[in-house]
Amino acid sequence: MKDDTKLTHAGRHPHENHGAVNTPVYHASTILFPTLADFDSRDRKYVYGRKGTPTTSTLEEAVSALEQAHGTVLAPSGLAAVTTTLMSFVQAGGHVLLTDSTYFPTRKFASGLLARLGIEAEYYDPLIGNGIEALIRPNTNLIWMESPGSLTFEMQDVPAIVAAAKKHGVPTAIDNTWSGGYFFKPLTLGVDVSVQAATKYIVGHSDAMLGTIACNQAAYPKVLDTFLQQGNCAGPDDVYLGTRGLRTMAVRMNRQHENGIKMAEWLRDRPEVIRVMHPALPEDPGHEIWKRDFTGASGLFGFVVDCTDRAALGAMLDGLALFGMGASWGGYESLILPSDPSKMRSATKWEAGGTTLRMHVGLEDTADLIDDLTAGFDRLNSARR
Ligand SMILES: *Cc1c(COP(=O)(O)O)cnc(C)c1O
Repeated sequence: MKDDTKLTHAGRHPHENHGAVNTPVYHASTILFPTLADFDSRDRKYVYGRKGTPTTSTLEEAVSALEQAHGTVLAPSGLAAVTTTLMSFVQAGGHVLLTDSTYFPTRKFASGLLARLGIEAEYYDPLIGNGIEALIRPNTNLIWMESPGSLTFEMQDVPAIVAAAKKHGVPTAIDNTWSGGYFFKPLTLGVDVSVQAATKYIVGHSDAMLGTIACNQAAYPKVLDTFLQQGNCAGPDDVYLGTRGLRTMAVRMNRQHENGIKMAEWLRDRPEVIRVMHPALPEDPGHEIWKRDFTGASGLFGFVVDCTDRAALGAMLDGLALFGMGASWGGYESLILPSDPSKMRSATKWEAGGTTLRMHVGLEDTADLIDDLTAGFDRLNSARR
């Protein structure tokens, strides 16, 4: 089956739920056993709310279909999905390789809590490709990727990194939030685990926190075991919202692909813009990798404006009517956010000049978004004159 069909049908079991199209929200802690024999047999699918219900199974099955995974584990946030995955592979005295473009809270966990447990986090150039092999040590527990990076948008050569990892028996995991699992299939390229902040494109409406951990056959029991030991389960209403969002994800993402490229092309031609970081643009350094490995682009990309004057930047951003300023992305609405990636890396330098901004393009008509930004650039230019 094609993805659009999977997203519509996977994980649905209407006739196990009185014909309801959507699996209802099972609110359960206690799950009752009808008899002692049933309790003793231990072969029931659902035994306790924390370990899963039909509501969670529905989303797990749908994400597994989307990511072509053996099994999926859900987490109460994207970051919880990241940390559960890292905890599934590390050992005291171990070593983890993470891309220097890693989502900052992932980096804080690796250099914070993991360090406290005696695990060394080492960061590598996102463009390292098969050069990663030189960094692999006998105690390397995991290689962590994120492609593209969610502030700086470098594309990683995932197959090259996976090949080096496999040669040394090192497992690999990737933060696949940007593609929604819709435009990129890391597990088909040999990555062991694909993590998503489902908060972003799967939920898709900026109203629930959720994480997904899609695993191949070797990784699934490890991740499931860590998840069960930690008890970090997602709430049923949020899981329901995740499933509900997932059903319409294909139409949203295809539109956001188009809208994002339109906005990136428009920004590229603005005199105030030094650089646009969007892998679907032919001049982007990651374009060839994107074309080879991805089938589309989400609505999130970066650009650099030739202005470091905060007051002038404020004049531009504060007056925008259609772009909200705030963390997260993947919803139906547009966002814009300044960042300073130079403070978030150690293996490489970010020297883009100006101010780095991140844009999330929603489902609005791009003509209106362009009008809003045109007025914003006018305010920026008058404020700095
Ligand atoms: C937002 C985000 C996360 C964390 O997700 P939360 O649901 O906010 O915890 C992880 N990785 C990336 C790339 C993200 O953008």
